Amino acid sequence: MVQDDEKRIKNEEEAISRAFQDILDIYLASQHRKKVELITKAFNFARQAHKGVRRHSGEPYIMHPLAVARIVCAEIGLGSTSICAALLHDVVEDTDYTVEDIRNLFGEKIAMIVDGLTKISGGVFGMQASEQAENFKKLLLTMSEDIRVILIKIADRLHNMRTLEFMPVNKQYKIAGETLYIYAPIAYRLGLSKIKTELENLSFRYEHPEEYAKIEKKIEKTQQERDVLYSEFTTPISDSLKKMGCKFYIIGRVKSPYSIWNKMQKKHVAFEDIYDILAVRIIFTPKDIDDENNECFKIYNAITRIYDAHPDRLRDWLNKPRANGYRALHATFMSKRGEWIEVQIRSERMNEVAEQGIAAHWKYKNQGDDATPDSQLDNWLHTIKEILDDPQPNALDFLDTIKLNLFATEIFVFTPKGEIKTMPQNCTALDLAYSIHTFLGNHCIGAKVNHRLVPLNHILNSGDQVEILTSNSQHVDAGWLNFVTTAKARTKIQAALRRQKRILQREGEEKLQQFLEKEELGNYSNNIEKIWKRHNLDSREQLLEAIGSGTIVLGSDDKDALLGNKKFRFPTFSFFGKGKSENKHVETPEHFEKIDRKQTLSITDDSLHHSYIIADCCHPIPGDDVLGYYDEENRIVIHKRKCPIADTLKSSHGDRILAANWDTHRTLYFQVPILIKGIDSIGILNQITTIIYQELNVGIQKLTIESKDGIFEGTVWVNVHDVEEVHTICNTLKKIKNIQTIARID
Ligand code: MN
Repeated sequence: MVQDDEKRIKNEEEAISRAFQDILDIYLASQHRKKVELITKAFNFARQAHKGVRRHSGEPYIMHPLAVARIVCAEIGLGSTSICAALLHDVVEDTDYTVEDIRNLFGEKIAMIVDGLTKISGGVFGMQASEQAENFKKLLLTMSEDIRVILIKIADRLHNMRTLEFMPVNKQYKIAGETLYIYAPIAYRLGLSKIKTELENLSFRYEHPEEYAKIEKKIEKTQQERDVLYSEFTTPISDSLKKMGCKFYIIGRVKSPYSIWNKMQKKHVAFEDIYDILAVRIIFTPKDIDDENNECFKIYNAITRIYDAHPDRLRDWLNKPRANGYRALHATFMSKRGEWIEVQIRSERMNEVAEQGIAAHWKYKNQGDDATPDSQLDNWLHTIKEILDDPQPNALDFLDTIKLNLFATEIFVFTPKGEIKTMPQNCTALDLAYSIHTFLGNHCIGAKVNHRLVPLNHILNSGDQVEILTSNSQHVDAGWLNFVTTAKARTKIQAALRRQKRILQREGEEKLQQFLEKEELGNYSNNIEKIWKRHNLDSREQLLEAIGSGTIVLGSDDKDALLGNKKFRFPTFSFFGKGKSENKHVETPEHFEKIDRKQTLSITDDSLHHSYIIADCCHPIPGDDVLGYYDEENRIVIHKRKCPIADTLKSSHGDRILAANWDTHRTLYFQVPILIKGIDSIGILNQITTIIYQELNVGIQKLTIESKDGIFEGTVWVNVHDVEEVHTICNTLKKIKNIQTIARID
């Protein structure tokens, strides 16, 4: 026994040394200054600090900081400061050492980064919404102080995701959910596209293991076809580029299971219908680094002599890089087999930036290249700071606001003077107004887009010329929140609304005091509750606001209420200012339908005495991947794992998430909407209903069909027991000629 232990420990020690040597090798091969001594010191310090502690996987704890340091060095391309900070990132959190100790041993910079990492080590999301907002703000603040904090945090998360199998299932959902909700978007925003893809894929694998396996299998099965297609398509390109004397290599890139799945969900298509699973990437060494953009176009021209290019799919990310710094030329060509194939043309340095994001920018920036992307990143960090300066009372709103900012892709619009502005896709005229100046936003009444008058909520397109129209009499309206898409506009509108509210409340307070004085009710000023309850309001603030805005005029009934006289009547309605639209939570118990838990669900937790309800937002049915969520009343609400509301809950209240699985089914019916699209033809409606009713013996709850220009689109609500039955219905209906799309609607 003892000998076994000794042997095991010896093996582990060797593994630790090997892992460290591996990092040093990668580091020494990089272009960074060689500070091996400092890194070795950090490693030895972390190693003894974590001594004796093990991870969930059973490994010695130090293997985790080592893995994070390796990612930081090899996959993000950072240097010694970051490698040291990564090695030390859990020391302050998990051992008795303090930031002071780190500062004394490793200096100010490393200590500051470790401190930042320690502050956000509790996970971005805590138990309470307010706590979560605080943590999240901390994350963003540390990020804007030193971007390396967040880069190391992403590396930490990536390693935790890679080793997620060792965590209990409900923790897996929390971690996977958070990852998809916030870390993948941040990784994308920082240009770490490879890491973003891996994070998404790992989350997907843990949340929908069966779907993941299915797609992976299909990718494998079709690989050979793609290999043939790839070599047929690229051979002539290779030949032609070689003749041009170009130094290059070509790789085929296969879409990740997550993005395939995402596309299937979004576009309601089958795996077989996704045409861009294969993309081709050409990476070249430019003859002249300053001329790399032109060389991209030269390669593009060479390919157009072999294949036809798709007229609408040329994407020039060279002259207008993405906000995360990405540069490349994308084009789509028709292969000889009649399939469209996307080709991405990049120089070596563009490729490095594409994979390692901003870290690679810094590297090139040091070489004297002052490209725009860095200022783009600065812009973004600046926006983040602006949002942070404007405190938002609702934590979830705050999260949404930040998230809006992470995933947006850009369009370009022009001011009347011909200046160019970058805006997120799907932004409105009002968003643009706010992005130029808060005053313009607050007083915006409309815009002229390409000289045509449009309303505030008009969605802008790339290339539009936009003139913002304002009026001093215009005031911010809560309804604006329903259509703006940028974080900045949202924050500024909310701030203006709060300001308006405070003014109304102040006026209301004055009017209330006047009323009390006039009616000689001064002694009752502690009983104002009776008045706001009478008006069905929830707080004194609401009452003051309503009085201030004039929607409530205090009168004799209020006096009676205050004096406790019973004769007043309850008003049936009380219209209360604009503030109500800010409350997003509408899921009152009536919105859920109750089901009998014995028959349908098992929840892997000891809390089976709770009753549960099916979430109204995503209508899960037996067979769907689901999870449970303890709501405020301690009921368990069942959501689909892919439900966007569940995503938010996972992130904001991860500790209340339970793993849930369907047990036995076929006892209850669920109504499920199925979307049908196709070419309109005589008798098609009859065919659909005949198949569902007679052939499949399934009840139809409701059916709506619309036909326009020879295309019909309809929704059938069927009564089914589970997902399998939905699949059967869809597969059978697919056989009808002229039907093109069939999909369950979420
Ligand atoms: Mn860690």
